Amino acid sequence: MTSHDHPQRDSPDWERPDFCPFCGTALADGGAGFVDHMDDSPPCAERFESWRERITDDVGGEWGG
Ligand SMILES: [Zn+2]
Repeated sequence: MTSHDHPQRDSPDWERPDFCPFCGTALADGGAGFVDHMDDSPPCAERFESWRERITDDVGGEWGG
């Protein structure tokens, strides 16, 4: 399935991805390119939102108690 290396989902590299982690598109300029790509590709933006919500849920569970 993997044709190139994606950073792990809990990796700090996620802040500066070289590729879209959802569709594998090469990004022009790390974080800024990723934001542009989210605008260009609504399906990827949706998946990014759900990923971020899941992370927030995880952290909330840890911190909420
Ligand atoms: Zn994408």
